[in-house]
Amino acid sequence: MSKLIGILGGTFDPVHYGHLRPALEVMQQAGLDEVRFIPNQLPPHRPQPWLDAATRKELVSLAIADEPGFVLDERELLRDGPSYMVDTLADLRCDFPESTLCLILGSDAFAGFTQWHEWQAILGLCHIIVMTRPGAELASLHSQPASITACISHDARALRNSLHGLILLQSVTPLDISASRIRESLRQGLSVRYLLPDSIYHYLGQYLEGQHAI
Ligand code: ATP
Repeated sequence: MSKLIGILGGTFDPVHYGHLRPALEVMQQAGLDEVRFIPNQLPPHRPQPWLDAATRKELVSLAIADEPGFVLDERELLRDGPSYMVDTLADLRCDFPESTLCLILGSDAFAGFTQWHEWQAILGLCHIIVMTRPGAELASLHSQPASITACISHDARALRNSLHGLILLQSVTPLDISASRIRESLRQGLSVRYLLPDSIYHYLGQYLEGQHAI
């Protein structure tokens, strides 16, 4: 049987439990063999992340170290300039020709999916798994174009029936955690403990002590 590979792209500025726990639940519930965490480069015209790319990558690596199904994938950071997801998926398809790729998106990210560069091509390269996120309810996804709603499924077993083109809606434990709220709390001098792994909490404490203003 071919492998099912989950792809979780993001800025991870910083990585938090709202990434980790839903990704684990998706992996288990959809029967994925692994989830690859892919920190992104940001286009120059967008606000730059607080943490530089090397630090965001290091934090992801720390956060996933104990979970054998989670893998850090550095490909977007190793490429020059910003990467489009369609290019990243094409690259992954070359590396894993026998596997089925499943792009994992929070429901907030999926709500803007049809504005993504070459989104139709993305559905030609992978399945999409949309995980619920508080504040971006799945009901609104049914107002997407017909070409999208026609692909929607609630049955994870269907992921193994084809290589691409399916959109699986997956409920996960709602965790109303975001990196922007974590950054805001740090700015205000509030603790972010228990919103992210202890290892990340301690790393960020030292990072801030090292004069890295937020
Ligand atoms: P920011 O607040 O800086 O925009 P973020 O917390 O949304 O960041 P990202 O790195 O942008 O984190 O998210 C990467 C992916 O993880 C996206 O698909 C996003 O929808 C998803 N995600 C992030 N937080 C959650 C959460 N709490 N529940 C479900 N999905 C989430």
